[in-house]
Amino acid sequence: MLTRPCVVLVSTYELGHQPFGLASPAAWLRAAGAEVSCLDLAVDQPDVETLRRADLVAFYLPMHTATRIAAEWIPRVREINPRARLAAYGLYAPMNDDLLRRLGVGAVIGGEFEESLTALVTSPGRELPLISLDRLAFRVPDRAALPALDRYAYLTMPDGSHRVAGYTEATRGCKHMCRHCPIVPVYGGRFRVVDREVVLADVGQLVAAGADHITFGDPDFFNGPAHARALVTELHRRHPELTYDATIKVEHLRRRERDLPLLKETGCVLVTCAVESFDEAVLDRFDKRHTADDVARVVTVLRELGLALNPTFVAFTPWTSPEGYLGFLARIAELGLVGSVAPVQYSIRLLIPAGSELLKLGEVADLAEEFDPRALCHPWRHPDPVVDALYRQVLEIVRTGLAASTGRGELFAQLWAAAAVFAGRDGAEPPGRERWGLRTRVPTLSEPWYCCAEPTEEQLAPKV
Ligand code: SF4
Repeated sequence: MLTRPCVVLVSTYELGHQPFGLASPAAWLRAAGAEVSCLDLAVDQPDVETLRRADLVAFYLPMHTATRIAAEWIPRVREINPRARLAAYGLYAPMNDDLLRRLGVGAVIGGEFEESLTALVTSPGRELPLISLDRLAFRVPDRAALPALDRYAYLTMPDGSHRVAGYTEATRGCKHMCRHCPIVPVYGGRFRVVDREVVLADVGQLVAAGADHITFGDPDFFNGPAHARALVTELHRRHPELTYDATIKVEHLRRRERDLPLLKETGCVLVTCAVESFDEAVLDRFDKRHTADDVARVVTVLRELGLALNPTFVAFTPWTSPEGYLGFLARIAELGLVGSVAPVQYSIRLLIPAGSELLKLGEVADLAEEFDPRALCHPWRHPDPVVDALYRQVLEIVRTGLAASTGRGELFAQLWAAAAVFAGRDGAEPPGRERWGLRTRVPTLSEPWYCCAEPTEEQLAPKV
């Protein structure tokens, strides 16, 4: 009797979610006859015996942090099982192809990965593309071997109650070309739709496993607005008590204002939105296709609908100035968003991964240093060392505040005081506290969205 190939799928970090990136290929590989084990290193220790038996160990790399952690684990897995074939798949795999191959990874798979990953088992000799954007007939993810949902991020509602969160994806890739976005080098402005019945079946099994909230991890939920509308309508019909959150870009929230009431009516409680900056010059360099006025309009519309906003930012860029950072804080206060901004967002620093479209801008190419294989990015230091000193201080305030569970209002006040000093406006008053938006509590995910590489002191030190 032929033995079944033994595959171990490994996730190192998926933003606190039960890893979709293991569940989806697990379904494909099991259907192809493989024996599949799933290892989520974010919550579990590795089962060494299972790793020893593996014919194939495949690391899921959806994001920068996951890739950095995987780069530490790959040599350990090779020691445990030198015989196993190693693979890496997901968004960050192709852009780190060189590094992964140096670490001993034989197969690097980007884009739509399930079919190629399965081919490693069914047709081991087949040559595979580095990036495949083939339209796949998706299978319902197989979550049987994953840790329970209550070991992952949860949603805290304004009344303090917790909701168990499940995570799935209704589309992948993105039809936009924002220059700072890691999706662009892989998907090049394309996106792929997951069949509605597959998404609904996945939601159904998440609900059966205890989820009362779903996070849609699509890079942009409104890339396919008709798909999104039909999906949430049916989702709500089948699970009227279920809440959900989704990520939608400012441009789509503006253009699709008429669709926003449907989100509210179907259980959406939180919209994550990559605001990035209020500075038009930065938005332009990022090619975000929205303005600061668009953001203000979105804030108003969502507030009127009772939909909470989870804004994300790239607070530190090569174009940030101390005065500009203070203005950024002022705008957050004026828009009543202090209670809505996750603390880490005040300290996010532009990440320039390999292949970033930003490197096509001469000013960024001049500033970016050689690719750092440990940090997995091109480090950069601000032309004005004062801004990097401000960055360090902001980081310190945010870290200390998080460790001490400092409230968002108090943390904002500390950041304001520090930024005012750096801007030469020591003692300047922030916009009136009554406007900060602290009275209305918003739903929050226990693992806020972010992915950044904090530079080392050496990387921040001014060049001599
Ligand atoms: S809209 Fe969002 S996901 Fe799409 S390219 Fe821009 S930043 Fe990336």
